[in-house]
Amino acid sequence: MRLTHSRKLVLDIFQNDNALLCAEDINKKLSGEAIDLSTIYRTLEYFTNKDILGKSTIDKVTYYYLKEGDHHHYMICTDCLVRLPIECEIDKMLHKNIKQYKFKVTSHDLTIYGYCTDCAKNHKEHRKSHG
Ligand SMILES: [Zn+2]
Ligand SMILES: [Zn+2]
Repeated sequence: MRLTHSRKLVLDIFQNDNALLCAEDINKKLSGEAIDLSTIYRTLEYFTNKDILGKSTIDKVTYYYLKEGDHHHYMICTDCLVRLPIECEIDKMLHKNIKQYKFKVTSHDLTIYGYCTDCAKNHKEHRKSHG
């Protein structure tokens, strides 16, 4: 894969930061570089299409993250954006339906959203204090 200067910069950010980042976050981190937001969006889409980045939309903001290692999925905390890898059971789940519909699956996507253990605690306390 040939990397242009902007692609390399964006990829470096994800490799140094194991977080969910939106285009604005990248833009902030690249301040000082002459890369505009539309280039950042195009670069993020490029890496998403290459299956190097995954993306998730939370509260109407699209976040990107580096896909690492073996095929797996994530549980994402919508409060603190922590990402917990989970094993993929999709093929097993779909086995019957694939046979039934003779469907040829080429790819799939699955992300679970919720609260991590710390944030779940906060939400409980929050609810309690508001009756
Ligand atoms: Zn959390
Ligand atoms: Zn999977």
